[in-house]
Amino acid sequence: MKQALIIGAGISGITAARILAEHGFQVTVLEKRDHIGGNVYDYYRDGVLIHKYGPHLFHTNFLKVAEFVQRFAEFFPYEHKVLGDVEGKLVPIPFNFKSIDILFPPEKAKKLKQSLLEEYPNVSSVTIMELLKSGKKEIKELANYVYQYVFYGYTRKQWGKPPEEMDSSVMGRVPVRLSYDNRYFTDLFQKMPRFGYTELIKKMAGHNQISIRYSCDALKYLTIEQNNIYWDGELFQGPVIYTGCIEELKGKCFGELPYRSLHFELEDRPVAQVQPVVQINYPNRYSYTRTSEFTLIQPEKKTDHTILVYEYPIPCTKEEIPYYPIETKENRELYEKYKQALAPIKNLYLLGRLAEYQYYNMDTTIKQAMDLAERLIGEETNGSSKREQGKEPN
Ligand code: UDP
Repeated sequence: MKQALIIGAGISGITAARILAEHGFQVTVLEKRDHIGGNVYDYYRDGVLIHKYGPHLFHTNFLKVAEFVQRFAEFFPYEHKVLGDVEGKLVPIPFNFKSIDILFPPEKAKKLKQSLLEEYPNVSSVTIMELLKSGKKEIKELANYVYQYVFYGYTRKQWGKPPEEMDSSVMGRVPVRLSYDNRYFTDLFQKMPRFGYTELIKKMAGHNQISIRYSCDALKYLTIEQNNIYWDGELFQGPVIYTGCIEELKGKCFGELPYRSLHFELEDRPVAQVQPVVQINYPNRYSYTRTSEFTLIQPEKKTDHTILVYEYPIPCTKEEIPYYPIETKENRELYEKYKQALAPIKNLYLLGRLAEYQYYNMDTTIKQAMDLAERLIGEETNGSSKREQGKEPN
């Protein structure tokens, strides 16, 4: 039987595992932690579904991804709303017309909204970086204000660097809205799995041709010699999909590739609800970036208690879990060095946030995993490999 090896039982590894298994592969998944799901793992605490590794809100414009995930769980509609603490007032994030109304006197607010609509006709949002480039005095002032009160402090806390050192795509994820649309995301599909991500991923992995080994550090069993992969001392010729930190495959020979990590504190409260919305961002106060009240996502809310989760960004030392690649020019160059060094290994495929060093959302991760698995199935059927086809390694 065709064999595939997948390192990492997170959302990307398990998506690929499922598709390969459905097409006749025998898939072995090696997972370092003692649970499935990677950073989308969630669990119940006193009846509240807690996202152990921070808020994961599912949204996508990829029909194929929406269809795929719904094979494994019931989903219910959920549109994420976020408020930001700006000068002591809670305003919608992404910053929108309502945020302007709350923060500025009525006449000033009216003028600002008018200027924005004139300057950016027919668009629903602009990034803060675009806004800062505006030649119009009023808009420039607003841009500076939003940059200062919404982006600067949050980004410093989140990344440990000022916004100008980060790739502009990072802040571009949260635009400035030129309307009263107060949803955090605008994707067509915005729904959450009824019983959480852990259940969803368990179902996805529930195939008799998938076996998962937990608490297994794959790098103890994998060796790479002369661009061949050996598993437990034996040459492994099937596809090896690696979803861990790329530099670990090369023993960090070019140096550390930096990541940002997170620390969470949970606070139980004996009331039904504390926050007006699930998430509140604190760009300008405290050392945490945001608080999440997951109780409010659940369709049946508890009435006797709720839980607040405080999120503190921290440097990613050896002991910490990597959450985010830090997208700077320098780090991207270092990543490319590792990627080039691994390129000659013809049956190695890099997948997901850590192996690709990309700030992917869940749906993109799933799409990449689906695309890769489909490509491997196609190559298997046609009897060719990526090297024979002269393809760029991913
Ligand atoms: N951001 C910000 N202020 C906010 C929200 C986001 O400055 O109130 C910036 C910050 O740099 C953050 C990035 O936008 O890291 C992306 O935010 P997102 O909410 O997408 O982060 P995630 O949920 O992925 O941690």
